[in-house]
Amino acid sequence: MVSKLRLALLALVVIQHGVVFGMTYKSVLITEKSFSQIEAISLVSALLLALATPGVIVEWLIGKSLRKVRQFCLRVQQGNYQERLVLPNESCDGEGEDEIVILMRDMNWMARQINIRENHLQQAVDDLSESRRQIAEQNQYLVSTNAELMVMQKQLKERTTELENACLKMQVMAMTDPLTDIANRRCFFDTLEREFATQLCNCPPMSLLNIDIDWFKTINDTYGHEAGDKVLQELAGIIRANSRNGDLAARIGGEEYALLLTNADSQRAITVARRIQTAVAEHNFILDENRRVSVTVSIGVCTLEKYPCYSKRKIYSYADQALYHSKRCGRNRISFFDPGTRLISQVV
Ligand code: GH3
Ligand code: MG
Ligand code: MG
Repeated sequence: MVSKLRLALLALVVIQHGVVFGMTYKSVLITEKSFSQIEAISLVSALLLALATPGVIVEWLIGKSLRKVRQFCLRVQQGNYQERLVLPNESCDGEGEDEIVILMRDMNWMARQINIRENHLQQAVDDLSESRRQIAEQNQYLVSTNAELMVMQKQLKERTTELENACLKMQVMAMTDPLTDIANRRCFFDTLEREFATQLCNCPPMSLLNIDIDWFKTINDTYGHEAGDKVLQELAGIIRANSRNGDLAARIGGEEYALLLTNADSQRAITVARRIQTAVAEHNFILDENRRVSVTVSIGVCTLEKYPCYSKRKIYSYADQALYHSKRCGRNRISFFDPGTRLISQVV
């Protein structure tokens, strides 16, 4: 643009020079000397005009372009990134291109770049808010799932407690005689086995009482099976009442009971047997509101001083042999099996 301007000014100077010269030549009396003076004056004035005019014009043109650029910058500042400067219609090859045009082109390029980055930034912001929305959604889902899990965990805990209680109850039931509520046969032999498994040779003596109701069948036959059950229940109470903590009272089957006395020598075993025999004989078994009955028991006693030397079945067998000795001797008796001599004697 400046080069065109320069050409225009040069042309203006030539025209102006010609005009001034022509006018002076026609209107003034011309002499040889005054002609050259007029030409010189004309030339000087033309040159002065040529020197002053471009500055003013260039300043005016540049100012105009800069105002355009300034307004463009303001619009870009306000966020109008799609704004573009309209470039003057000049050669675009860059050769001899006006600096202002280059600046405007650069400004356009910068605005374009800002626009592209703004779009990228907006895209990133959109992506971020979408991610945040998804995270919030997932968080909500996790919160509700967690709440469900907590409820399930609580139910599971309750169910586990129920099952544990049921299991415990079943274990107790599996080891308890339902009629008399004392240990059953399985519990008795399990305990016996445990005792033999855990004790060393120098263990304290162990005693066993086998107790059987005399003529029990007659009670059933006379008063009925239910009455017989009542007798069985009350007898269990008497045996338990005459045992200590750590002793095991069990119903082995039918009307036969066992009382395992750990840490009890023969002396104590016989004392306990006597107490039970007397308590049963003196007890009035209540069958119903009007009927009472008395029964007796036969007892077989065996004491092992060093019982790990014997099998667990031996003590039961010895006490059983002693029990049948009591039966043979007439019932309501106590007999003692001595494992050392293998002799059974009636306790008097
Ligand atoms: P012994 O003096 O020789 O022991 O005679 P017993 O009649 O006591 O013995 P026996 O073996 O002849 O009879 C036992 C009876 O016990 C027979 C059976 O019907 C009864 N019995 C077994 N279990 C139960 C029970 O759970 N309830 C009741 N009521 N009776 C039972
Ligand atoms: Mg009997
Ligand atoms: Mg019997």
